[in-house]
Amino acid sequence: MIIIEQISCCGCQACVNICPKKCISMKADDEGFLYPSIDKTTCINCGLCEKVCPILHKPSTFSVLATYAAKHTSSEVKLKSSSGGIFSALAEVILKEGGVVFGVAFDKDWNVVHKYVEKLDNLDKLRRSKYVQSNIGRTYQQAKQFLDQGRTVLFTGTPCQIAGLRNYLGKVYNNLLTADIICHAVPSPAVWQKFLHENLDISLIKAINFREKDVRWSTFYLSFLTPHGLNVHGNTKTLAEKVHFKLRAAVASVVYRNTFLNAFLRELINRPSCHTCHFKGLNARLSDFTLGDLWGQWPGIITKQDKKYGMSVLLVNTIKGQKYFEEIHPSSQYFPVDAQKVAEFNSALDNPTVIHPKRADFFRRYQSENFNKLVRELLDLKPAWIAIPLSASKKIIRKCLNCFK
Ligand SMILES: Cc1cc2nc3c(=O)[nH]c(=O)nc-3n(C[C@H](O)[C@H](O)[C@H](O)COP(=O)(O)OP(=O)(O)OC[C@H]3O[C@@H](n4cnc5c(N)ncnc54)[C@H](O)[C@@H]3O)c2cc1C
Ligand code: SF4
Ligand code: SF4
Ligand code: SF4
Repeated sequence: MIIIEQISCCGCQACVNICPKKCISMKADDEGFLYPSIDKTTCINCGLCEKVCPILHKPSTFSVLATYAAKHTSSEVKLKSSSGGIFSALAEVILKEGGVVFGVAFDKDWNVVHKYVEKLDNLDKLRRSKYVQSNIGRTYQQAKQFLDQGRTVLFTGTPCQIAGLRNYLGKVYNNLLTADIICHAVPSPAVWQKFLHENLDISLIKAINFREKDVRWSTFYLSFLTPHGLNVHGNTKTLAEKVHFKLRAAVASVVYRNTFLNAFLRELINRPSCHTCHFKGLNARLSDFTLGDLWGQWPGIITKQDKKYGMSVLLVNTIKGQKYFEEIHPSSQYFPVDAQKVAEFNSALDNPTVIHPKRADFFRRYQSENFNKLVRELLDLKPAWIAIPLSASKKIIRKCLNCFK
């Protein structure tokens, strides 16, 4: 039976997937994160849940073999991806050779869940980062079934989810390829639902994109597509909407005020285990590949076009990964870069994020208070009508000062 403390549980669900008596289920706590709960009446004390827990038994790790700035050759794919679309380049190879790709999608209620796809036409569901903890469900069991049938499987997720998968499988499969993301941390699924319900009529949402690129790639920009075109920070249909959208986009990039993204990036709503994450480090990778955004200054590598469409970073961590990397060449462009420099600009690669001092206040109050108001208060976010003139006037003053130089 599991002895792990709740604060260190990363929610990977390896224990749920392995239990031979199906006596473990995941239950949400007051913060909305899922934790295992055991029905002691049916538990036979076999110890398998402890054996596969990646917090108790971390799988072997790999050191990075090669690091690339990488992007898909198709602009269309890049626009549909969080950074340079390198996930799609990998997934396309697997699907074209009859394999299966596991990754993260939305369900019909906009919950974030792990799923698999077998056809290229369905790959779009897994594209784009969803900045919410995904529910793994029984996908480790499904992956094992495909692997035992001899199908090639690409399994993608957070490093702790890949650690959970590897422990659950308990042996090396030559037909398994894994890719984790550089992982900042994961927000609470219940907080995500609260944000959605308070800001939108969710029956009208057609698509959600956490990394809208209509402005530019590096701006974190959450968009919602509805039958009426854009909503909140949305997508475009008519010229009038386009102008409106550009204005709102400018606002977002100047004052960076989306409450959900702020709460995520400033550590107000993330899983406790993320702040003591066991799965960080350039020399402690868990997967064949690690995918992320190429942040920082890269003259000669990041072009003006990349600033709009995005650039990924791809860490190749194993020999198996190297072999597959060769197969994605036709659909990708890549440039060797220094891994240390990548990590300097992307601290989530090496270090856990630091908890916000007001996180406890947030979770004490969030169920009974308005999400936007609470986040603005705790993070001291200025409303747009103050922040825009402030920011605009700063720009004007700076320009005037430059004139006198
Ligand atoms: C919660 C979270 C935090 C991240 N933090 C960082 C960071 O600090 N630094 C950084 O460089 N990159 C981070 N990333 C990764 C980054 O957002 C992109 O996923 C990465 O650049 C690959 O983009 P892409 O263009 O190749 O493909 P995309 O098509 O955007 O790739 C999507 C991939 O991400 C996976 N994915 C999507 N949502 C989730 C989720 N909720 N949980 C697990 N896997 C998911 C999909 O399964 C797929 O493999 C984070 C991603 C997530 C989901
Ligand atoms: S000890 Fe065995 S039966 Fe009991 S919860 Fe763990 S895996 Fe299930
Ligand atoms: S296996 Fe995963 S979900 Fe289960 S206790 Fe360990 S960390 Fe938590
Ligand atoms: S930060 Fe660590 S514990 Fe949190 S989701 Fe990412 S890999 Fe898992």
